[in-house]
Amino acid sequence: MWQAPSRPTTTEWRFQAMATTEPDITSPTEAAEGIEKIDVKAVNRKKTRQEQHASAMEYSSRVKVYPKKARGYFRNIKWMVMAATTAAYYLLPWLRWDRGPGLPNQAILMDIQDGRIFFFSLAIWPQELYLITGFLVLAALSLFLFTSIAGRVWCGYLCWQTVWTDMMVAVERFWQGDRNSRILLDKEAWTANKIYKKVMTHLSWILIAAATGGAFILYFRDAPTLALEFFRGEAPLPSYVFFLLLTGFTYLLGGIAREQVCIYMCPWPRIQGAMLDADSLLVTYRDFRGEPRGPLRKSQGWEGRGDCIDCHACVAVCPMGIDIRDGPQLECIQCALCVDACNEIMGKVHKPHSLIAYDTYRSIQSEKKGGGLQLRLVRPRTLLYAGLISVVSAFMIYALASKTVLELNVLAERNPLFVQLSDGGVRNTYTVKILNKRYEPHTFELSIEGIEGAHMSVLGEESEAKPQITVVPDDLREVRAYVTLPHDAVAKYPDEKIPFTFIVTDTADGTRTMRHTNFRKPAK
Ligand code: SF4
Ligand code: SF4
Repeated sequence: MWQAPSRPTTTEWRFQAMATTEPDITSPTEAAEGIEKIDVKAVNRKKTRQEQHASAMEYSSRVKVYPKKARGYFRNIKWMVMAATTAAYYLLPWLRWDRGPGLPNQAILMDIQDGRIFFFSLAIWPQELYLITGFLVLAALSLFLFTSIAGRVWCGYLCWQTVWTDMMVAVERFWQGDRNSRILLDKEAWTANKIYKKVMTHLSWILIAAATGGAFILYFRDAPTLALEFFRGEAPLPSYVFFLLLTGFTYLLGGIAREQVCIYMCPWPRIQGAMLDADSLLVTYRDFRGEPRGPLRKSQGWEGRGDCIDCHACVAVCPMGIDIRDGPQLECIQCALCVDACNEIMGKVHKPHSLIAYDTYRSIQSEKKGGGLQLRLVRPRTLLYAGLISVVSAFMIYALASKTVLELNVLAERNPLFVQLSDGGVRNTYTVKILNKRYEPHTFELSIEGIEGAHMSVLGEESEAKPQITVVPDDLREVRAYVTLPHDAVAKYPDEKIPFTFIVTDTADGTRTMRHTNFRKPAK
């Protein structure tokens, strides 16, 4: 398991670096010529928080994080992932999917009213909720696999808390400027300019939150209809309740609480530790290359010092308010923005990129000894997760391939169990339920097998020898069926319980669906 390498503290390194040579840098706020040393504290560093708590001896209030805008490869990936995930979330309810007349034409719909989930061509009925369980298990196992290979990629790029927080920060930056401007604005007195910028920021957040809450409810009812009903005040009450809940939570968690959710509320950082090992790729500060750190003076060469010029660019861009140079930590969501920030600095001081990079613990140990990069994707842990994913996928493929398009249910009447007819015959009554899951009407022929001499009729269609029942698309039809055993046949069966089978035959393709049940008669 990753352990922070044992090394002197930041202060000790700085002291060593400062003590050896004169501070002849252009300005005391420069980490190297032309490179600003950013005045930033890793406010959410575990040690800092522990010290705050210890000194306050009580709950210490939150120290706000002002993430600086990062530029680079990983930032671009994050922008692209944000665009793709939010576009999918906001637009998918509007995507239409023709399922035929009388059926919802929304591609993704959780139809609570009729108890079905529509996902493009797939319709999941309440009886098939095991499919949802299967999909969730598959998603969880995939997350385990990705975590064991590449650490918290979910947290850094895909988690809705990350995506929406990133969006809220971008909006805040749009109205209030980058890090320094925001800090100054917060320190300013409440002028008209400050009020305007703050109000516009919060209004924009509320707008995003409302769009998020609004999109959420559209997944549960036909989107165009619900949108109209919603604005006319005619939508069902739960739509308004869930809209307000989602809007409130998005504003609160994405706009206000931000990194606090990941540090204090989310259980995933605690759980994911169990999935990481020495071969998991984590955003890592290569201390063997960076230390001893310290500002680079004009007259100083790179001899006897590390590549880290202690500019704090990596800390300033961190949305979690931590310093990656402290080693792996629970607060790090692995967004790699510090990698971009440091690469930019390394470019400026003409040093190779990747002082901070995705790396594994094993690799770091090898690199320290002069060895090369070691990447072991195939190992027992990843094989186990991949194996489990294959098993669950195979089950899901089988379950989807054998998914029935018809459900047949037969319920025998219990009170009375049977009726004795005046001619000595015995009659049982059954409720037969036929669920047509297809998107066209189907006609089914109802018959029985396995009870010699008995005949069956359906209420309302007594004259039919083999009654035909038509069921409209995506609907359930219930009929009352009578099975009668004449007097001479009753004597052939010594037992009170005679097993037999109801058969429903699709007249279009001859598909037969069977349900076993029992015929009851009086004891001899
Ligand atoms: S790790 Fe890179 S970005 Fe961070 S302080 Fe050192 S040189 Fe600057
Ligand atoms: S330390 Fe780096 S990877 Fe971790 S959260 Fe901060 S910026 Fe992202």
